[in-house]
Amino acid sequence: MQVLHRIADTNSVVNELKNKGKTVGFVPTMGALHAGHVSLVERSKRENDITVVSIFVNPIQFNDKKDLERYPRTLEADCALLAAAGCDYVFAPSVDEMYPANAAASETYSFGQLEAVMEGAHRPGHFNGVAVVVKRLFDIVPAHRAYFGLKDFQQVAIIHSLVSQKNIPIQIIECPIVREPDGLAMSSRNTLLTPEHRKNAVQISQTLFAAQEKAKSVGVDELKAWVCSTINANPFLEVEYFDIVESKSLSSVNSWSAPGNKVGCIAVKAGLIRLIDNISF
Ligand code: AMP
Repeated sequence: MQVLHRIADTNSVVNELKNKGKTVGFVPTMGALHAGHVSLVERSKRENDITVVSIFVNPIQFNDKKDLERYPRTLEADCALLAAAGCDYVFAPSVDEMYPANAAASETYSFGQLEAVMEGAHRPGHFNGVAVVVKRLFDIVPAHRAYFGLKDFQQVAIIHSLVSQKNIPIQIIECPIVREPDGLAMSSRNTLLTPEHRKNAVQISQTLFAAQEKAKSVGVDELKAWVCSTINANPFLEVEYFDIVESKSLSSVNSWSAPGNKVGCIAVKAGLIRLIDNISF
């Protein structure tokens, strides 16, 4: 496995491989890797000749400066994990490499309803920052396929829209959520939880699983209220939002008979740490 830090080197390696007829899979990450990330790498390895993983904590997608400062950075351990998983190339640029001081990251994207709700509503500027970095990464690593986790359900919808708006010739592959043995969705931020918050955070996924069962017998609004009050009853947790949306438009649904697949998306503060999860209905 080779670790590259420069845009030009990475771009020419990928283009050379493509010119030799190799298929390339790409897994963009912010590092602090866990089994959820590894599942994306494994899927890419099954479906492509070469797998490239990027590790870049993208400052412009953090609306909360404290969240950016405390975000875990573990490049050495990440590279060991990726080498063991059979990754071929790691692209780990500096902030200056991605955002040169003399060229502001000023592109603005518009995602309409997809960015007006949930994460978009609670994290101003977040999805624009995601779109800026992902567009740049796709230019640097012009892969055949890119792998994204459904843990970030709304992000996947934004990426589909980005690819279609910019006519990017890349296939977006959606990968299922990987969970800890107790059900908590794996996240780089889980390592930042206090032991008490980690223990109580299990109630997020437990409540979502129970909601899946309960959906058979109660209406959408009642279920939303139940999820919020159940989690908020735990003194270590505070729901920021829980909404049940149609999976493509991300419009709120208020009836189980509304058309389309339905997904319940949640953000919860566990002390200082903000966690997200989702479940399909
Ligand atoms: P991040 O490093 O958090 O930006 O995540 C990089 C990619 O890994 C994104 O596509 C995430 O959705 C995906 N990912 C993160 N956590 C998980 C998980 N628990 N299961 C599956 N995919 C995940």
